[in-house]
Amino acid sequence: MLQTKQLRENLYALDDGMVRAFLFVGTDKALLIDTGLPGDGVRAAVAALTDAPVQVLLTHGDGDHSGGVAAFGEAWVHEKDWPMLADRDKLRLHPLKEGDVFDCGTYRLEVIETPGHTYGSVAFLEREKKLLFSGDSVQKEGPIYMFGATRNLDLYIASQRKLLTRLDQFDTVYPSHHACPIDPSYIEKDLEDALAMQAGKLESTPETTMPCRTYRGQWVSFYCDDRVLRGDN
Ligand SMILES: [Zn+2]
Repeated sequence: MLQTKQLRENLYALDDGMVRAFLFVGTDKALLIDTGLPGDGVRAAVAALTDAPVQVLLTHGDGDHSGGVAAFGEAWVHEKDWPMLADRDKLRLHPLKEGDVFDCGTYRLEVIETPGHTYGSVAFLEREKKLLFSGDSVQKEGPIYMFGATRNLDLYIASQRKLLTRLDQFDTVYPSHHACPIDPSYIEKDLEDALAMQAGKLESTPETTMPCRTYRGQWVSFYCDDRVLRGDN
């Protein structure tokens, strides 16, 4: 069951318990970050909050973020993740890239490319309010999904380092999964654990239902596989 929670003035989390989308209600339009799992649950929750036209932005192409996009028909997504989208021929897709700005009057979201979790992963920065919407790249505890053909650990590590150079621009991080909001110090913590995983320093156990192992870091865990660890994607 999708729960709507107001986070700040004109900002809502739409959370089904597994993944959350974020709605920014503006002066004459709304912005939506992510669309949840397949179905029209997020669309219905948005309609209950605003009549304004909704511009849909995706943090990345994973199905738990892009699943509900068909209910909107149109989305702005990094081009590298277009191949991940189900039924993409039926969608009106627009690219987004580093530095693009989406403004609804009350919130102004700037794109920061953060490839690694997927090749087209992005975060959205609200500079004036000092908020970062991190998608799956920054999380507390996790697990962060880093297995399969769409992941790249070197890029993930580089993206965490890139976010560290911008720490002065935000003081709160809103991840799509698990604890939310979290402190920006998790960027460095996730980086530390990702580096330890890459160096073979984390203990791991096999997952029984997915083709990966769980690597437990000090701050966050990862679902990862040998191919990603070798950097073969
Ligand atoms: Zn996700």
